[in-house]
Amino acid sequence: MDAKKVLEDLKRRFPNEPEYHQAVEEVLGTIEEEYNKHPEFDKMNLIERLCIPDRIYQFRVTWMDDKGNYQTNMGYRVQHNNAIGPYKGGIRFHSSVNLGILKFLAFEQTFKNSLTTLPMGGGKGGSDFSPRGKSNAEVMRFCQAFMLELTRHIGPDVDVPAGDIGVGGREVGYMFGMYKKLTREFSGVLTGKGLEFGGSLIRPEATGYGTVYFLRAMLKTKGDEVKGKKVLISGAGNVAQYAAEKVLQLGGIPMTMSDSDGYIYDPDGITREKLDYIMELKNVYRGRIKEYVEKYPTAKYTAGAKPWFEKADIALPCATQNELNEEAAKALVANGVIAVAEGANMPSTPGAIRVFQEAKILYSPGKASNAGGVSVSGLEMSQNSERLSWTAEEVDAKLLWIMENIHENCVKYGTEADGYVNYVKGANVAGFMKVAKAMMAQGIV
Ligand code: NDP
Repeated sequence: MDAKKVLEDLKRRFPNEPEYHQAVEEVLGTIEEEYNKHPEFDKMNLIERLCIPDRIYQFRVTWMDDKGNYQTNMGYRVQHNNAIGPYKGGIRFHSSVNLGILKFLAFEQTFKNSLTTLPMGGGKGGSDFSPRGKSNAEVMRFCQAFMLELTRHIGPDVDVPAGDIGVGGREVGYMFGMYKKLTREFSGVLTGKGLEFGGSLIRPEATGYGTVYFLRAMLKTKGDEVKGKKVLISGAGNVAQYAAEKVLQLGGIPMTMSDSDGYIYDPDGITREKLDYIMELKNVYRGRIKEYVEKYPTAKYTAGAKPWFEKADIALPCATQNELNEEAAKALVANGVIAVAEGANMPSTPGAIRVFQEAKILYSPGKASNAGGVSVSGLEMSQNSERLSWTAEEVDAKLLWIMENIHENCVKYGTEADGYVNYVKGANVAGFMKVAKAMMAQGIV
C-alpha cells in the first residue's frame, strides 16, 4: 500500500469530507508499515475495502414542531464494517452533522470496537436536528420520525445504535419505543436504554470512567497517579460529567468544564457538590455552563473560548472533534501538562497530536481511551441476549479489565525504539489487525 496514494484517491472520489480524510490519514500513516508486511492484504485490496463504508443510508426526516409547522432534517446511518460483529455505533443529533462527519466517526468506530475484544463491527448515524431549545414533545416527535425510517436498517443482529452528542437516555427511550411499536418486537436493538427496559448499569458512566481508567494506566507507566493532579476537562455532557466524577473519586481536581458557548474555570476546583450542581443543570434543566458562575461566583466564565490555556497537569478533551488545535497543544505543553487522554472522538487536530508526540508526553487517541462507552454497550447487548442484568460492580470490573487490556495492546504495538509509547500507532495497528484477519477469512464480500 502507498498510503499517500490511497488517501489522494479517496479525496478525489469523496471530496468535501475533511473529517473523514483526516481520520483515514491518521490511521493509514500508522498502519502502513504493518500492512506492507502482509502482501496478501494488498492482493485482496483490503485497504480500500476497509476505508469505504459497506453502505450508507440517507433519508429525509419530517416532523411537526409545537407551533404546528413541518420541519425537515436529514437522517443518516453509515454501516462501515461488520467483519467482526453487527454494526455498532452511536447516533448524533447536532446542527453540524453531515455525511463526512459520520463517515469519520464510523471509520474510527470500526477500529475502536475491534480494540474492545467484543464482537462488534463499526457504524454511526445521526441527523442535523439539534435538540437544543426544543421541547420534550418536539424531541419525541423528531425521534419517532427518525426511527420510522431507520427501523428498516437496524436490528439486534444487524446494527445496534447507541447515543452520542445530543442523544442521551431521553432520545434513546423515544427511539426504542418507536422501534418496538413498528416491529412489535422487544429486543436489544439500541444500547444506552433505561434501566427499566434492558439498559445496563454503568452505561451512562462508561465512557467518562473508561477514559480516566485509561489515563490511570498511562500515568502508571511513569510511576505516577491521578491523585492531586489538576485536570482540564472540556464539555459538560455525558462523557465530561463522568470523567470529572472518576477524576474526583481518584483524588484528582477537575478545574474546568465547557459547552459550545464557552468554559468555566474554578480556581478552587470542581468538588463533588459542584459537580452534582452541573449534572442537575445539564441533565434536568438543560441549562448552559455559564450559569455555574452565578452559583459559584469565585469561578470565572470565558465566552467563546476553550479551556486549554489554563494551567494544569492533565487535559481530558470530552466535547467534540477538532476542539484542541496546535496552538492550544503548545500552550498545554508549555504549562507542564503531562498527559492528554481523549474522551471525545478526534478532539485533537493533527498539528496538536504532533506537538504532544514531539514533547513525548502521554497522549491517547479517543479510539483507545473512550472505548469504554461502546464496551459497556457491548455488555448491554450480552445482558439483553441472556435476558439478565449484571450488578454495577460486575460491569465496572469488566469495563476496567477492557480499558487496561486496550492499554496493554497499545503498549505492545506502539512502543518505539526509545521506549516512548505511541498510543496512536498502538491503537491503530491493534485495531486494524483483527478486522483485517476477519476480512481475509471471509473472502470478497
Ligand atoms: P453530549 O451531547 O452529552 O455532550 C457534548 C458536550 O460537548 C456538550 O457540553 C456540548 O455543548 C459540547 N459540544 C458539542 N459540540 C461542540 C462544539 N462544536 N464545540 C464546543 N463544544 C461542543 O455528548 P457526549 O458527552 O456523549 O459526547 C462527547 C464526545 O464524546 C463526542 O465526541 C462523542 O462522539 C464522544 N463519545 C461519546 C460516547 C458516549 O458514550 N456518549 C462514547 C465515545 C465517544 P453544547 O451543550 O453547547 O452543545
